[in-house]
Amino acid sequence: MSKQQPVIFDIGWNACINCGACIAICPQEAGFVSPFDTIAVDRPCDIACLLCEQICPVDTIRHRPAVAEVTPAGAVGR
Ligand code: SF4
Ligand code: SF4
Repeated sequence: MSKQQPVIFDIGWNACINCGACIAICPQEAGFVSPFDTIAVDRPCDIACLLCEQICPVDTIRHRPAVAEVTPAGAVGR
């Protein structure tokens, strides 16, 4: 239960002020940066400390599980 699940991020681009706080606090390697100077949004983060989400001053980072949920055949979520 305590093992972190990989997450992937959505960022509200209209709200982001490109402050760089999410990048500054992130323990990931420098390559984990999007073309918009935010946390990468196109690949899963398996550290999932969520510090980036917590530090964002405009609260515009949202994480979601990066792994597809295994659902019974025919039970398509949403
Ligand atoms: S969850 Fe942690 S390791 Fe992953 S991108 Fe955010 S700050 Fe970096
Ligand atoms: S911390 Fe938030 S406002 Fe700052 S660059 Fe990252 S996403 Fe944008």
